[in-house]
Amino acid sequence: MKTKTCAICGLDFGVLYRIQIKKGKAWLFACKTCVEKKQTETHYKYGGTWKGKRH
Ligand SMILES: [Zn+2]
Repeated sequence: MKTKTCAICGLDFGVLYRIQIKKGKAWLFACKTCVEKKQTETHYKYGGTWKGKRH
């Protein structure tokens, strides 16, 4: 299974969420825990789920 690094906490995960936390077009990948922390922010935007495992 492939993993990707969470842009916020720096740990590797098999599933990450594509989010925007700043105004503009900069997307980043964050883990579930970090997404939950950022969800309340003004510029938070959800852009999909990344999965390392294909089925
Ligand atoms: Zn994280």
